[in-house]
Formats: sequence, C-alpha cells, structure tokens
Amino acid sequence: MVGFTILIGASLSFLGGYFLSGRSLIPIKKSVERQQEFLADASHELRTPIAVIQTNLEVVKASTDESVESQLTWINNAYDEIQWMQHIVEDLMFLARADSGDMVVQQEPVDLTYAIKVVCEKMAPIAGKKGIALINKLEDDLIITGDEKQITQLLVILLDNAIKYSGENTIIRIIGKQTLQGVAVEVIDQGIGIPKDEISKVTQRFYRVDKARSRTEGGTGLGLSIANWIVDEHHAGMIIESEEKKGTRIILNFDKGVEKK
Ligand code: ADP
Repeated sequence: MVGFTILIGASLSFLGGYFLSGRSLIPIKKSVERQQEFLADASHELRTPIAVIQTNLEVVKASTDESVESQLTWINNAYDEIQWMQHIVEDLMFLARADSGDMVVQQEPVDLTYAIKVVCEKMAPIAGKKGIALINKLEDDLIITGDEKQITQLLVILLDNAIKYSGENTIIRIIGKQTLQGVAVEVIDQGIGIPKDEISKVTQRFYRVDKARSRTEGGTGLGLSIANWIVDEHHAGMIIESEEKKGTRIILNFDKGVEKK
C-alpha cells in the first residue's frame, strides 16, 4: 500500500518497469499515458452524443405544440444518438474487460465454415440495403480452437467494416481455406480503401481515417482494436492490405490446434 502511494505521488517520469499487455511488454509510464489518452478520447466521444440528445430534448421541452408528430423528429434524433452511445459503451466495456484481464477466452472447437455462413446470413440484409453482394467461397470443416462468440464478433467487425466502407452495388468476397499452418479467412471488399500511411494505425483505439464517414456509418473507431485483441488472444495473425479507391483485403491466419497458454 505504501509503495502504491509513493508511486502515485511520484512524478510519472520516475516510473520504470514493464506492464504485460496482451503478449507484449509495455513500459509502465507508456501504459499509464495510454490509459489516460484512452479515457480522454472516450470522454470526448461520449460528450458529443450527450450534447445532441440534450439539445433535441430541450427543443421538445420548450415546444408549445404538444402533437406527437411535431416532436417526433427531435425524439428520433435523440434516440439515434442513444443507440450510438449504447454501441460505443458496449465496445468500451469489451476493451475495459480485455485490459483488466477479466475476459474469459473459451478453448473449444469452432467450426469456422459454419460461423462464417451464419455471420454472412446475418449481415446480408444490411449489405443488401446498399446493393452489396456477399459471396462466400468456403472449404468444408474449417475447424480451429477458440472462443466461438469472440470469433463471431471478429467476423462481424470485419464484414461490417467492409460493408460500411464500400460503395453501392459492389461485391464483398469471404474466402475460407486450409493452409499449411492452419486456416485462413479473407474478407475482400471493393470499397474506398485505406491510405497507405494509415494502414498501420487503424487498429489503434478511436483511430478513424475519415471520422465523419465513420460516424455517419455508425462506427465507433473501436472495431479493429477489438478485432486485434481477439486475433491476439487466439494466437492468430491479421494482415491488412488496402489500396485507396480500390478496396481492402483482410487476412486472418489461425494456427491449427494452438491452445492458449
Ligand atoms: P470504425 O467504427 O470507425 O469503423 P474501426 O476500428 O473498425 O472503426 O476501423 C478504424 C478505421 O479503419 C475506420 O474508421 C476506417 O477509416 C478504416 N477501415 C476499417 N475497415 C475498412 C475497410 N474495409 N475499408 C476502408 N476503411 C476501413
């Protein structure tokens, strides 16, 4: 307890040592700075929807016209913001649990062929609204070891992004195949792509190439950092290849039968 008090009271520049995050060692000072930055970003992100909700409800409160129709626009605006906030809070809670080491990662056989089919069926109506076709090319019995719920979440994030950042009437291909090492899944879109110098940054928390576009598409800027965490916990790899105005290809590589240590 004494040591802890001294640490808090000391200038951060005196903090030495390392903190274990995921599979990498991060200097404590850097880790504290990251947490502070994360908190600041999270508060900033939540402040905007709260202000929008407040403004919309103030209009309703001040209105002398009591007909429901006249107030519906403002209430709908507030509702949209609440839904977006709910999304961001869920993502933040996931990352907070991941950071604290509280997240349980199940080790069970996961049928990726089946999981991809289920996710595609779920996402097809959303893609359909933009005239986007989801095309699967899947080998049978692609089995990996891991957490089915998290693997599903990972696939949803990648497909959701592919849909969000693609234009109308394009095609998204999802390929699943055996490789020498295990199983590879590719999600290939014909969307707006990511500028070359930003590809390495998109897995950072709250990093968005085009903040306004992400926001109008319902993005939180946390999807790929969650995806990255899940990939890491499954001892898998994620490669992002992209070309602006041409599209993006994300490759997941799962090692066969690798158990979490
Ligand atoms: P968001 O909720 O904004 O989509 P993500 O963490 O999932 O957040 O992605 C971070 C950023 O990476 C996005 O805002 C977008 O700029 C870029 N991005 C992710 N996937 C794609 C993609 N398939 N095509 C183009 N840009 C993408």
